[in-house]
Amino acid sequence: MFRAPIQHCRQCGTAVEHRIPDDGDTKVRAVCPSCGTIHYENPLNVVGTVPHWGPTGEQVLLCKRNIEPRLGKWTLPAGFMELNETTAEGAMRETHEEAGAQIEMQGLFTLLNVARVGQVHLYYRARLLSDRFEPGHETQEARLFTEAEIPWEELAFRTVKETLERYFEDRRKGHFGVHTGDIA
Ligand SMILES: [Zn+2]
Repeated sequence: MFRAPIQHCRQCGTAVEHRIPDDGDTKVRAVCPSCGTIHYENPLNVVGTVPHWGPTGEQVLLCKRNIEPRLGKWTLPAGFMELNETTAEGAMRETHEEAGAQIEMQGLFTLLNVARVGQVHLYYRARLLSDRFEPGHETQEARLFTEAEIPWEELAFRTVKETLERYFEDRRKGHFGVHTGDIA
């Protein structure tokens, strides 16, 4: 889920220079020496869900990744938000694409900054409407886990671990809040 730096101008295709523009900016940007276009790069949103099953949400759906990075590791369904969709729509779409799961969206649960890689991860709680899944090509296997069964050492991303820890903590308290945090 990393992005390579811009190499060529999006307007004219010339190789860009990485420097501070002459317009009073303070950050290094990809600047085109030919047409003068300055390329601004901003963080991307990764949106996903915590799909839960059972009367008290005792089981959570995880997907075993069939793609790099972290091939073979387990993750909550999540991916990059697309243009022309809301964060909740994106989270629902990713859950359909990766797990083939039918869900009812609930509230925002975690908002985690991963500033090092220029990403913001947002996870929503979602009630599963069925325990039958049809994983897409990005997923080797989709299955339900109780807290005791979660493969904590085999999780794909820090934001997934953080979100699952918060989920089971809140479930024990009987109240789900909204959690924000920064992943170093
Ligand atoms: Zn250019």
